[in-house]
Amino acid sequence: MKFVLDSSALLSGKDFRGELYTTPEALKEVKKIGMTPQLEALFSVRVSITSPSRESINAVKEEAKKTGDVKRLSPTDVGILALAKELSAVVLTDDYSIQNLAKELGLEYRGVAISEIKEKIYWEYRCRGCGKFWEEWYNFCPICGSKLKTSRKR
Ligand SMILES: [Zn+2]
Repeated sequence: MKFVLDSSALLSGKDFRGELYTTPEALKEVKKIGMTPQLEALFSVRVSITSPSRESINAVKEEAKKTGDVKRLSPTDVGILALAKELSAVVLTDDYSIQNLAKELGLEYRGVAISEIKEKIYWEYRCRGCGKFWEEWYNFCPICGSKLKTSRKR
C-alpha cells in the first residue's frame, strides 16, 4: 500500500508499513521545524521524495474552493493531496483541513496520533462587523467592509 506523509506524519518518526512518499515542500517544513539525525536516516531509506504534477495541484485547489478549505490549506498541504491523488495513495496526516479535503477528493486518509474525523466539515465566513454569513471568502465584507472570520458550518 502507498502512503503520502505530510509534515505531521514525517515528524512523528514512525516507520509506517508500505511504500512511503512525501513532497520536497513537506520535507522542507520538517527541516525548518526540527530535523534530527534519526529522522534523516529514516527518510533517506524509507521515503521517496516526489513532486505532484501541475494538473493534480490545480484539481485539488478547485476542490478546496468548493469546501471552503482553500484559505486553510498551505501550498504544501495542497501538494500532499495532489501527490496522493496521483499515486492513489493513503494520506497520513493529523491536520483536519487536509483530512477533510482528502475525504472530499475521495482519498483515503489516516491520522497519525489522533483519530480521524468522521464527518465532513464545511466552513463559512462570518463578518466581524455586521455578522452576515458568506459562503465565499472576501478580504472585506461586501456590505460593511469589516474583516471576515472563518467558522464551522452547521
Ligand atoms: Zn459586514
